[in-house]
Amino acid sequence: MYKVVIGLEVHCEVKTNSKNFSSAKNAYSEYPNEYVDTTDLGLPGILPVANREAFRKSLMMSLALHCKTPDIVMFDRKNYYYPDLPKGYQITQETKPVGKDGYVMINVDGVDKKVLINNIHLEEDTASLDHFGDYSLIDYNRAGVPLLETVTEPCMYSVKEALAFLETLKGIFLYTDVSEARVDRGQIRCDVNVSLMDENSTELGTKVEMKNINSFNNVKLAIETEIERQTEILNNGGKVLQETRRFSEEDLKTYPMRSKVDAIDYKYYIEPNIPPIKIEDSWIEEIKKDIPMLPFERVEKYMNVYGLSRYDSDIIVKDKKVSDYFEETISLGTNPKSSANWLTSIILGYLNKNELSIDDLYLTPQMLHELIKMIDDGEISSKQSKEVFIKCIEEKINPKDVVKSLGITQITDDKTIRDIVVRVLDSHPDLIEDHRKGKNTFDFFVGQVMKETRGKANPSITASIIKDEIDKR
Ligand code: ADP
Ligand code: MG
Repeated sequence: MYKVVIGLEVHCEVKTNSKNFSSAKNAYSEYPNEYVDTTDLGLPGILPVANREAFRKSLMMSLALHCKTPDIVMFDRKNYYYPDLPKGYQITQETKPVGKDGYVMINVDGVDKKVLINNIHLEEDTASLDHFGDYSLIDYNRAGVPLLETVTEPCMYSVKEALAFLETLKGIFLYTDVSEARVDRGQIRCDVNVSLMDENSTELGTKVEMKNINSFNNVKLAIETEIERQTEILNNGGKVLQETRRFSEEDLKTYPMRSKVDAIDYKYYIEPNIPPIKIEDSWIEEIKKDIPMLPFERVEKYMNVYGLSRYDSDIIVKDKKVSDYFEETISLGTNPKSSANWLTSIILGYLNKNELSIDDLYLTPQMLHELIKMIDDGEISSKQSKEVFIKCIEEKINPKDVVKSLGITQITDDKTIRDIVVRVLDSHPDLIEDHRKGKNTFDFFVGQVMKETRGKANPSITASIIKDEIDKR
Protein backbone atom coordinates (compact mmCIF):
# COMPACT_ATOMS: atom_id res chain seq x y z
CA MET A 1 0.00 0.00 0.00
CA TYR A 2 1.08 3.55 -0.69
CA LYS A 3 0.53 6.67 1.31
CA VAL A 4 -0.38 9.79 -0.67
CA VAL A 5 1.44 13.03 0.11
CA ILE A 6 0.09 16.37 -1.08
CA GLY A 7 1.58 19.87 -1.04
CA LEU A 8 -0.30 22.89 -2.35
CA GLU A 9 0.69 26.26 -3.75
CA VAL A 10 -2.39 28.47 -3.63
CA HIS A 11 -2.56 31.73 -5.57
CA CYS A 12 -5.16 34.23 -4.50
CA GLU A 13 -5.79 37.73 -5.87
CA VAL A 14 -5.69 40.46 -3.24
CA LYS A 15 -8.57 42.93 -3.08
CA THR A 16 -7.15 46.43 -3.59
CA ASN A 17 -8.14 49.56 -5.51
CA SER A 18 -5.10 49.55 -7.75
CA LYS A 19 -2.65 47.01 -9.09
CA ASN A 20 0.43 45.82 -7.26
CA PHE A 21 3.01 48.04 -8.94
CA SER A 22 0.97 50.52 -11.01
CA SER A 23 -1.99 52.83 -10.51
CA ALA A 24 -4.23 50.95 -12.97
CA LYS A 25 -7.48 49.83 -11.43
CA ASN A 26 -7.64 46.34 -9.91
CA ALA A 27 -11.12 45.29 -10.97
CA TYR A 28 -12.95 42.63 -12.85
CA SER A 29 -14.21 43.65 -16.27
CA GLU A 30 -16.04 41.92 -19.04
CA TYR A 31 -14.13 44.10 -21.49
CA PRO A 32 -10.56 43.08 -22.22
CA ASN A 33 -7.72 45.55 -21.68
CA GLU A 34 -9.79 48.14 -19.85
CA TYR A 35 -7.53 48.55 -16.82
CA VAL A 36 -3.97 48.61 -18.11
CA ASP A 37 -1.10 51.06 -17.89
CA THR A 38 2.45 51.17 -19.16
CA THR A 39 3.87 49.35 -16.13
CA ASP A 40 1.51 46.43 -16.61
CA LEU A 41 2.54 46.27 -20.26
CA GLY A 42 6.22 46.34 -19.36
CA LEU A 43 7.03 49.22 -21.70
CA PRO A 44 10.63 50.55 -21.67
CA GLY A 45 11.48 52.86 -18.77
CA ILE A 46 8.70 51.81 -16.45
CA LEU A 47 9.18 51.99 -12.68
CA PRO A 48 7.12 49.81 -10.37
CA VAL A 49 5.79 51.36 -7.15
CA ALA A 50 4.84 49.04 -4.27
CA ASN A 51 1.17 49.11 -3.23
CA ARG A 52 0.81 49.80 0.50
CA GLU A 53 -2.66 48.22 0.78
CA ALA A 54 -1.59 45.03 -1.02
CA PHE A 55 1.35 44.91 1.33
CA ARG A 56 -0.78 45.48 4.44
CA LYS A 57 -3.19 42.75 3.42
CA SER A 58 -0.34 40.34 2.70
CA LEU A 59 1.07 40.96 6.16
CA MET A 60 -2.41 40.45 7.61
CA MET A 61 -2.72 37.09 5.87
CA SER A 62 0.79 36.16 6.98
CA LEU A 63 -0.17 36.88 10.60
CA ALA A 64 -3.50 35.05 10.26
CA LEU A 65 -1.50 31.98 9.13
CA HIS A 66 0.78 32.31 12.20
CA CYS A 67 3.80 33.03 10.01
CA LYS A 68 6.97 34.76 11.10
CA THR A 69 7.10 38.19 9.52
CA PRO A 70 10.52 39.55 8.57
CA ASP A 71 11.92 42.96 9.60
CA ILE A 72 12.70 43.72 6.00
CA VAL A 73 10.79 42.55 2.96
CA MET A 74 12.25 42.52 -0.51
CA PHE A 75 10.97 41.84 -3.98
CA ASP A 76 12.74 39.67 -6.55
CA ARG A 77 12.56 39.24 -10.29
CA LYS A 78 11.64 35.83 -11.61
CA ASN A 79 12.69 35.76 -15.25
CA TYR A 80 10.92 33.76 -17.91
CA TYR A 81 9.21 34.40 -21.20
CA TYR A 82 5.58 33.70 -21.91
CA PRO A 83 3.03 35.76 -23.87
CA ASP A 84 1.00 36.47 -20.72
CA LEU A 85 4.03 38.11 -19.09
CA PRO A 86 4.94 41.17 -21.21
CA LYS A 87 7.86 42.34 -19.02
CA GLY A 88 9.64 38.99 -19.40
CA TYR A 89 9.81 38.74 -15.60
CA GLN A 90 7.41 38.52 -12.70
CA ILE A 91 8.00 40.59 -9.59
CA THR A 92 7.73 38.17 -6.68
CA GLN A 93 9.34 37.46 -3.31
CA GLU A 94 11.97 34.76 -3.17
CA THR A 95 14.51 35.87 -0.57
CA LYS A 96 12.40 37.81 1.97
CA PRO A 97 8.71 36.92 1.67
CA VAL A 98 6.01 38.45 3.88
CA GLY A 99 5.72 35.25 5.88
CA LYS A 100 7.55 32.02 6.71
CA ASP A 101 6.96 28.91 8.81
CA GLY A 102 3.31 29.25 9.72
CA TYR A 103 0.41 26.87 10.07
CA VAL A 104 -3.32 26.58 9.56
CA MET A 105 -5.63 24.48 11.72
CA ILE A 106 -8.11 22.38 9.76
CA ASN A 107 -10.72 19.88 10.85
CA VAL A 108 -11.41 16.68 8.98
CA ASP A 109 -14.24 14.45 10.20
CA GLY A 110 -14.06 15.96 13.67
CA VAL A 111 -10.29 15.62 13.99
CA ASP A 112 -8.08 18.73 14.18
CA LYS A 113 -4.91 18.90 12.13
CA LYS A 114 -2.15 21.44 11.67
CA VAL A 115 -1.20 22.11 8.05
CA LEU A 116 2.28 23.62 7.90
CA ILE A 117 2.90 26.69 5.76
CA ASN A 118 6.35 26.95 4.23
CA ASN A 119 5.92 30.57 3.17
CA ILE A 120 3.52 33.17 1.90
CA HIS A 121 4.66 35.72 -0.65
CA LEU A 122 3.30 38.64 -2.62
CA GLU A 123 3.68 38.71 -6.37
CA GLU A 124 1.80 39.91 -9.44
CA ASP A 125 -0.69 38.08 -11.58
CA THR A 126 -0.10 37.53 -15.28
CA ALA A 127 -2.31 38.60 -18.18
CA SER A 128 -4.88 36.07 -19.34
CA LEU A 129 -4.87 34.31 -22.67
CA ASP A 130 -8.01 33.45 -24.62
CA HIS A 131 -7.51 30.76 -27.21
CA PHE A 132 -9.60 30.66 -30.38
CA GLY A 133 -9.09 28.19 -33.23
CA ASP A 134 -5.70 29.09 -34.67
CA TYR A 135 -5.05 32.31 -32.78
CA SER A 136 -5.02 33.59 -29.19
CA LEU A 137 -5.83 36.97 -27.66
CA ILE A 138 -4.27 38.59 -24.61
CA ASP A 139 -6.24 40.45 -21.97
CA TYR A 140 -4.06 42.58 -19.67
CA ASN A 141 -6.77 43.42 -17.12
CA ARG A 142 -5.31 40.80 -14.82
CA ALA A 143 -1.67 41.69 -15.48
CA GLY A 144 -0.12 43.16 -12.34
CA VAL A 145 -3.00 42.37 -9.99
CA PRO A 146 -1.56 41.65 -6.53
CA LEU A 147 -1.37 37.90 -6.01
CA LEU A 148 -0.62 36.16 -2.73
CA GLU A 149 0.91 32.72 -2.95
CA THR A 150 0.61 30.39 0.03
CA VAL A 151 2.95 27.39 -0.10
CA THR A 152 2.31 24.44 2.20
CA GLU A 153 4.73 21.77 3.29
CA PRO A 154 4.06 18.31 1.82
CA CYS A 155 1.95 17.41 4.83
CA MET A 156 -1.54 16.52 3.62
CA TYR A 157 -2.29 12.82 3.28
CA SER A 158 -5.69 12.63 1.61
CA VAL A 159 -7.99 14.41 -0.81
CA LYS A 160 -10.19 15.29 2.16
CA GLU A 161 -7.34 17.04 3.97
CA ALA A 162 -6.36 18.98 0.86
CA LEU A 163 -9.93 20.16 0.31
CA ALA A 164 -10.42 21.02 3.99
CA PHE A 165 -7.23 23.09 3.80
CA LEU A 166 -8.45 24.95 0.71
CA GLU A 167 -11.86 25.66 2.26
CA THR A 168 -10.23 26.84 5.48
CA LEU A 169 -7.77 29.06 3.63
CA LYS A 170 -10.57 30.54 1.54
CA GLY A 171 -12.50 31.22 4.76
CA ILE A 172 -9.53 33.13 6.18
CA PHE A 173 -9.23 35.21 3.00
CA LEU A 174 -12.91 36.11 3.28
CA TYR A 175 -12.94 36.81 7.03
CA THR A 176 -9.90 39.09 6.80
CA ASP A 177 -11.27 40.68 3.61
CA VAL A 178 -7.85 40.16 2.01
CA SER A 179 -9.54 38.67 -1.04
CA GLU A 180 -12.99 37.87 -2.33
CA ALA A 181 -11.48 34.50 -3.35
CA ARG A 182 -14.09 34.01 -6.06
CA VAL A 183 -13.47 30.73 -7.81
CA ASP A 184 -15.80 31.71 -10.67
CA ARG A 185 -13.58 34.70 -11.49
CA GLY A 186 -10.34 32.75 -11.20
CA GLN A 187 -9.34 34.74 -8.11
CA ILE A 188 -8.13 31.60 -6.36
CA ARG A 189 -6.13 28.94 -8.23
CA CYS A 190 -3.71 26.33 -7.19
CA ASP A 191 -0.74 24.17 -8.10
CA VAL A 192 -1.14 20.67 -6.76
CA ASN A 193 1.86 18.47 -5.91
CA VAL A 194 1.25 14.78 -5.41
CA SER A 195 3.54 11.88 -4.58
CA LEU A 196 3.15 8.36 -3.25
CA MET A 197 5.39 6.76 -0.66
CA ASP A 198 5.65 3.27 0.69
CA GLU A 199 3.51 2.95 3.80
CA ASN A 200 6.45 1.72 5.86
CA SER A 201 8.98 4.18 4.47
CA THR A 202 9.92 7.56 5.94
CA GLU A 203 11.20 8.90 2.66
CA LEU A 204 8.97 11.06 0.47
CA GLY A 205 8.26 9.76 -3.01
CA THR A 206 8.86 11.67 -6.23
CA LYS A 207 6.33 14.42 -6.73
CA VAL A 208 4.38 15.44 -9.75
CA GLU A 209 3.15 19.01 -10.02
CA MET A 210 -0.12 19.97 -11.69
CA LYS A 211 -0.30 23.68 -12.39
CA ASN A 212 -3.10 26.21 -12.32
CA ILE A 213 -6.07 24.13 -11.25
CA ASN A 214 -9.03 26.46 -11.21
CA SER A 215 -11.63 24.87 -8.94
CA PHE A 216 -11.69 22.87 -5.72
CA ASN A 217 -13.52 20.07 -7.46
CA ASN A 218 -10.79 19.90 -10.08
CA VAL A 219 -8.20 19.73 -7.30
CA LYS A 220 -10.02 16.67 -6.03
CA LEU A 221 -10.20 15.10 -9.49
CA ALA A 222 -6.57 15.93 -10.30
CA ILE A 223 -5.30 14.31 -7.10
CA GLU A 224 -7.44 11.21 -7.61
CA THR A 225 -6.28 10.90 -11.21
CA GLU A 226 -2.64 11.23 -10.27
CA ILE A 227 -2.92 8.75 -7.38
CA GLU A 228 -4.30 6.22 -9.82
CA ARG A 229 -1.60 6.82 -12.43
CA GLN A 230 1.28 6.75 -9.94
CA THR A 231 -0.07 3.63 -8.19
CA GLU A 232 -0.12 1.78 -11.46
CA ILE A 233 3.48 2.78 -12.29
CA LEU A 234 4.72 1.71 -8.85
CA ASN A 235 2.75 -1.55 -8.90
CA ASN A 236 4.42 -2.40 -12.19
CA GLY A 237 7.81 -1.85 -10.60
CA GLY A 238 8.34 1.48 -12.39
CA LYS A 239 9.55 4.83 -11.14
CA VAL A 240 7.51 8.04 -11.05
CA LEU A 241 9.23 10.79 -13.01
CA GLN A 242 9.56 14.20 -11.37
CA GLU A 243 7.67 16.42 -13.76
CA THR A 244 4.97 19.01 -14.31
CA ARG A 245 1.79 17.56 -15.74
CA ARG A 246 -1.36 19.13 -17.07
CA PHE A 247 -4.68 17.93 -15.72
CA SER A 248 -7.43 17.68 -18.30
CA GLU A 249 -10.96 17.77 -16.95
CA GLU A 250 -12.32 16.56 -20.29
CA ASP A 251 -10.94 13.04 -20.06
CA LEU A 252 -9.79 13.05 -16.42
CA LYS A 253 -6.19 12.38 -17.33
CA THR A 254 -2.89 14.14 -16.71
CA TYR A 255 -0.44 14.82 -19.55
CA PRO A 256 3.30 15.53 -19.31
CA MET A 257 4.32 19.18 -19.78
CA ARG A 258 7.94 19.32 -18.71
CA SER A 259 10.29 17.14 -16.75
CA LYS A 260 12.86 18.12 -14.14
CA VAL A 261 15.65 18.30 -16.72
CA ASP A 262 13.65 20.87 -18.68
CA ALA A 263 12.97 22.90 -15.53
CA ILE A 264 13.27 26.61 -16.15
CA ASP A 265 16.14 28.48 -14.51
CA TYR A 266 14.37 31.63 -13.36
CA LYS A 267 17.62 33.48 -12.61
CA TYR A 268 16.12 35.23 -9.60
CA TYR A 269 17.66 38.50 -8.52
CA ILE A 270 16.53 41.32 -6.26
CA GLU A 271 14.17 43.72 -8.03
CA PRO A 272 16.37 46.79 -8.36
CA ASN A 273 13.55 49.30 -8.72
CA ILE A 274 11.86 48.64 -5.37
CA PRO A 275 13.88 49.38 -2.26
CA PRO A 276 13.78 46.90 0.64
CA ILE A 277 10.79 47.69 2.86
CA LYS A 278 11.26 47.91 6.60
CA ILE A 279 8.32 46.66 8.64
CA GLU A 280 7.80 48.56 11.87
CA ASP A 281 6.59 46.52 14.87
CA SER A 282 3.90 49.12 15.50
CA TRP A 283 2.47 48.45 12.04
CA ILE A 284 2.36 44.72 12.73
CA GLU A 285 0.54 45.38 16.02
CA GLU A 286 -1.97 47.60 14.24
CA ILE A 287 -2.64 44.95 11.59
CA LYS A 288 -3.03 42.22 14.22
CA LYS A 289 -5.81 44.23 15.85
CA ASP A 290 -7.70 44.31 12.55
CA ILE A 291 -7.81 40.51 12.23
CA PRO A 292 -11.25 39.30 13.31
CA MET A 293 -11.75 36.01 15.12
CA LEU A 294 -11.35 33.38 12.38
CA PRO A 295 -13.71 30.50 11.50
CA PHE A 296 -11.70 27.73 13.18
CA GLU A 297 -11.63 29.60 16.50
CA ARG A 298 -15.30 30.57 16.16
CA VAL A 299 -16.33 26.94 15.69
CA GLU A 300 -14.37 25.99 18.80
CA LYS A 301 -16.08 28.75 20.76
CA TYR A 302 -19.55 27.83 19.50
CA MET A 303 -19.05 24.20 20.47
CA ASN A 304 -17.25 24.63 23.78
CA VAL A 305 -18.86 27.80 25.12
CA TYR A 306 -22.31 27.78 23.53
CA GLY A 307 -22.80 24.01 23.33
CA LEU A 308 -23.65 23.94 19.62
CA SER A 309 -23.00 20.92 17.43
CA ARG A 310 -20.07 21.02 15.00
CA TYR A 311 -22.58 20.73 12.18
CA ASP A 312 -24.47 23.88 13.19
CA SER A 313 -21.26 25.75 14.04
CA ASP A 314 -19.83 24.95 10.61
CA ILE A 315 -22.97 26.24 8.91
CA ILE A 316 -22.90 29.48 10.89
CA VAL A 317 -19.23 30.29 10.27
CA LYS A 318 -19.40 29.58 6.56
CA ASP A 319 -20.37 33.22 5.99
CA LYS A 320 -18.79 35.84 8.22
CA LYS A 321 -21.89 38.01 8.03
CA VAL A 322 -24.04 35.17 9.34
CA SER A 323 -21.53 34.46 12.09
CA ASP A 324 -21.40 38.15 13.07
CA TYR A 325 -25.21 38.24 13.09
CA PHE A 326 -25.27 35.22 15.39
CA GLU A 327 -22.77 36.78 17.78
CA GLU A 328 -24.69 40.04 17.87
CA THR A 329 -27.92 38.18 18.70
CA ILE A 330 -26.19 36.37 21.54
CA SER A 331 -24.63 39.56 22.85
CA LEU A 332 -28.19 40.80 23.49
CA GLY A 333 -28.67 37.91 25.90
CA THR A 334 -30.47 35.48 23.60
CA ASN A 335 -30.06 31.78 24.25
CA PRO A 336 -27.29 30.57 21.88
CA LYS A 337 -29.05 27.32 21.01
CA SER A 338 -32.34 29.02 20.14
CA SER A 339 -30.44 31.63 18.10
CA ALA A 340 -28.53 28.90 16.28
CA ASN A 341 -31.72 26.95 15.56
CA TRP A 342 -33.41 30.00 14.15
CA LEU A 343 -30.41 30.88 12.03
CA THR A 344 -29.57 27.47 10.61
CA SER A 345 -33.09 26.26 9.93
CA ILE A 346 -35.52 29.11 9.49
CA ILE A 347 -33.47 32.15 8.51
CA LEU A 348 -30.88 30.48 6.26
CA GLY A 349 -33.63 28.30 4.80
CA TYR A 350 -35.58 31.40 3.85
CA LEU A 351 -32.51 33.22 2.49
CA ASN A 352 -31.41 30.24 0.39
CA LYS A 353 -34.86 29.65 -1.00
CA ASN A 354 -35.19 33.28 -2.02
CA GLU A 355 -31.55 33.66 -3.07
CA LEU A 356 -30.99 36.47 -0.60
CA SER A 357 -28.05 37.40 1.61
CA ILE A 358 -28.34 38.11 5.31
CA ASP A 359 -27.74 41.80 4.49
CA ASP A 360 -31.11 41.83 2.74
CA LEU A 361 -32.93 40.57 5.80
CA TYR A 362 -35.27 43.05 7.50
CA LEU A 363 -35.06 41.07 10.75
CA THR A 364 -32.13 42.52 12.72
CA PRO A 365 -30.38 40.64 15.57
CA GLN A 366 -32.35 42.87 17.96
CA MET A 367 -35.64 41.77 16.36
CA LEU A 368 -34.62 38.09 16.44
CA HIS A 369 -33.81 38.57 20.10
CA GLU A 370 -37.33 39.97 20.72
CA LEU A 371 -38.97 37.23 18.69
CA ILE A 372 -37.23 34.46 20.63
CA LYS A 373 -38.06 36.24 23.89
CA MET A 374 -41.76 36.27 23.00
CA ILE A 375 -41.62 32.49 22.47
CA ASP A 376 -39.68 31.88 25.68
CA ASP A 377 -42.14 34.04 27.64
CA GLY A 378 -45.01 32.03 26.19
CA GLU A 379 -46.50 35.11 24.51
CA ILE A 380 -46.59 33.31 21.18
CA SER A 381 -46.26 29.65 20.27
CA SER A 382 -43.37 28.43 18.20
CA LYS A 383 -45.82 27.73 15.39
CA GLN A 384 -47.06 31.33 15.48
CA SER A 385 -43.49 32.63 15.60
CA LYS A 386 -42.90 31.34 12.07
CA GLU A 387 -45.91 33.26 10.83
CA VAL A 388 -44.61 36.35 12.63
CA PHE A 389 -41.18 35.86 11.04
CA ILE A 390 -42.56 35.73 7.50
CA LYS A 391 -44.85 38.72 8.01
CA CYS A 392 -42.01 40.66 9.63
CA ILE A 393 -39.58 40.24 6.74
CA GLU A 394 -42.06 40.38 3.92
CA GLU A 395 -43.95 43.44 5.15
CA LYS A 396 -41.00 45.00 6.98
CA ILE A 397 -42.77 45.27 10.33
CA ASN A 398 -41.01 44.60 13.59
CA PRO A 399 -42.06 41.30 15.24
CA LYS A 400 -43.70 42.96 18.27
CA ASP A 401 -45.96 45.02 16.00
CA VAL A 402 -46.77 41.95 13.89
CA VAL A 403 -47.91 40.13 17.02
CA LYS A 404 -50.05 43.13 18.00
CA SER A 405 -51.57 43.53 14.54
CA LEU A 406 -52.34 39.83 14.15
CA GLY A 407 -53.75 39.78 17.67
CA ILE A 408 -52.04 36.49 18.25
CA THR A 409 -50.59 37.16 21.64
CA GLN A 410 -51.10 34.08 23.78
CA ILE A 411 -53.02 34.30 27.01
CA THR A 412 -50.66 33.12 29.71
CA ASP A 413 -52.21 34.90 32.64
CA ASP A 414 -53.23 32.28 35.28
CA LYS A 415 -56.32 34.13 36.55
CA THR A 416 -57.81 34.77 33.11
CA ILE A 417 -57.45 31.13 32.08
CA ARG A 418 -58.58 29.80 35.47
CA ASP A 419 -61.83 31.84 35.33
CA ILE A 420 -62.67 30.29 31.96
CA VAL A 421 -61.72 26.77 33.14
CA VAL A 422 -63.96 27.08 36.21
CA ARG A 423 -66.87 28.19 34.03
CA VAL A 424 -66.35 25.29 31.60
CA LEU A 425 -66.10 22.72 34.39
CA ASP A 426 -69.16 24.15 36.19
CA SER A 427 -71.32 23.62 33.14
CA HIS A 428 -70.22 19.98 32.59
CA PRO A 429 -70.33 18.15 35.96
CA ASP A 430 -71.27 14.93 34.14
CA LEU A 431 -68.10 15.02 32.07
CA ILE A 432 -65.99 15.46 35.18
CA GLU A 433 -67.57 12.26 36.48
CA ASP A 434 -66.78 10.52 33.20
CA HIS A 435 -63.19 11.73 33.47
CA ARG A 436 -62.91 10.20 36.92
CA LYS A 437 -64.22 6.92 35.57
CA GLY A 438 -61.35 6.93 33.11
CA LYS A 439 -63.07 8.25 30.00
CA ASN A 440 -61.08 10.79 28.05
CA THR A 441 -62.99 14.04 28.40
CA PHE A 442 -59.91 16.07 29.17
CA ASP A 443 -59.36 17.10 25.54
CA PHE A 444 -62.95 18.30 25.41
CA PHE A 445 -62.25 20.72 28.29
CA VAL A 446 -59.11 22.01 26.58
CA GLY A 447 -61.09 22.43 23.37
CA GLN A 448 -63.78 24.46 25.17
CA VAL A 449 -61.19 26.82 26.68
CA MET A 450 -59.59 27.25 23.24
CA LYS A 451 -62.97 27.97 21.75
CA GLU A 452 -63.67 30.67 24.30
CA THR A 453 -60.26 32.28 23.85
CA ARG A 454 -60.20 31.82 20.08
CA GLY A 455 -57.13 29.60 20.41
CA LYS A 456 -55.10 32.16 22.34
CA ALA A 457 -54.83 30.35 25.66
CA ASN A 458 -51.38 28.88 26.16
CA PRO A 459 -51.99 25.12 25.76
CA SER A 460 -49.66 23.81 28.46
CA ILE A 461 -50.77 26.38 31.05
CA THR A 462 -54.42 25.58 30.19
CA ALA A 463 -53.87 21.84 30.63
CA SER A 464 -52.23 22.22 34.01
CA ILE A 465 -55.00 24.54 35.28
CA ILE A 466 -57.73 22.10 34.14
CA LYS A 467 -55.97 19.26 35.94
CA ASP A 468 -55.58 21.40 39.03
CA GLU A 469 -59.25 22.46 39.06
CA ILE A 470 -60.57 18.90 38.56
CA ASP A 471 -58.36 17.64 41.40
CA LYS A 472 -59.77 20.34 43.65
CA ARG A 473 -63.37 19.16 43.17
P1 ADP B 1 10.37 22.76 -5.93
O1 ADP B 1 11.79 22.90 -5.48
O2 ADP B 1 10.18 21.74 -6.99
O3 ADP B 1 9.68 24.05 -6.19
P2 ADP B 1 9.47 22.65 -3.23
O4 ADP B 1 10.15 21.74 -2.27
O5 ADP B 1 9.76 24.09 -3.17
O6 ADP B 1 9.62 22.09 -4.69
O7 ADP B 1 7.90 22.46 -3.02
C1 ADP B 1 6.99 22.97 -3.89
C2 ADP B 1 5.63 22.39 -3.48
O8 ADP B 1 5.66 20.98 -3.65
C3 ADP B 1 5.28 22.62 -2.02
O9 ADP B 1 3.90 22.92 -1.93
C4 ADP B 1 5.59 21.31 -1.36
O10 ADP B 1 4.73 21.07 -0.27
C5 ADP B 1 5.29 20.32 -2.46
N1 ADP B 1 6.09 19.09 -2.35
C6 ADP B 1 7.42 18.99 -2.19
N2 ADP B 1 7.79 17.69 -2.15
C7 ADP B 1 6.66 16.94 -2.27
C8 ADP B 1 6.38 15.55 -2.27
N3 ADP B 1 7.34 14.64 -2.18
N4 ADP B 1 5.09 15.19 -2.42
C9 ADP B 1 4.11 16.07 -2.53
N5 ADP B 1 4.32 17.39 -2.52
C10 ADP B 1 5.57 17.84 -2.39
MG1 MG C 1 4.83 31.57 -7.67
